[in-house]
Amino acid sequence: MIRVNRGDPPPDFAIRRANWETGLQQARVGDPKITASKYWNRVRPEIRNDAEVLAARLHRKCAFCESKMSHVMSPQIEHFRPKSNAAYEGRMFDWSNWLLSCGVCNTKKGRFFDGGNEDLRIIDPASEPPSDHIGFVGSIPLGLSSRGTETIKRLRLRREALNSYRTAWLAVVGVLLLAALDGSLATRTAARRYLIWSMQDEAPFAAMVREFIGEMAPAFAKPAVPHPHIAGEGLVEDILRLVKRREPDIAQLS
Ligand SMILES: [Zn+2]
Repeated sequence: MIRVNRGDPPPDFAIRRANWETGLQQARVGDPKITASKYWNRVRPEIRNDAEVLAARLHRKCAFCESKMSHVMSPQIEHFRPKSNAAYEGRMFDWSNWLLSCGVCNTKKGRFFDGGNEDLRIIDPASEPPSDHIGFVGSIPLGLSSRGTETIKRLRLRREALNSYRTAWLAVVGVLLLAALDGSLATRTAARRYLIWSMQDEAPFAAMVREFIGEMAPAFAKPAVPHPHIAGEGLVEDILRLVKRREPDIAQLS
């Protein structure tokens, strides 16, 4: 989990919020038992544009497990303070209560927030540094506080599917570290660029990668002059061009 910045609400969000909230009151006149979730599903198409803004600002990553979500999937809003809890229903359309999460984290979190105990409150990546509460041993998240431990447990951040994705990604980062030391200048440069990108907010499992590279290569992870931002879009093409250029050598592999 890394710190996320959802930024200010999109233009005219306050007007839409007021309309949605009025709509809920009116819907309840006709059907007093309508739940927050049912009403949310009803207005979901109207929320799509705002959800897209949030998804872009959060780099289309789950705010909890840092998995990259598919670009084809409609972004799912996660209510940090759950809308199904009557105490927080009034924050259903509050921009500062919205996060993005994958279906699994969303389901595991369910209606939990703190269970009435401050020491068990789920870590809020939008308002506090998650690295104070959750670290990594290799690819396995480790609670550094009672809240970090509870967050890992509630969201099942050690679930098998996540562990195997993170382990595979850590192996790639390990190979990149080796490639940054060996090989031709072009290979070293490409590996360094990929490594820098892998520590940026938009990369998957950035908290884990920052900790890993921070331990293995501290001066590279935190240079005196920060690394320039590396655009992710061109990285794959760069590597493929490099592979193409080395085709005769690669053909000799046996
Ligand atoms: Zn997730």
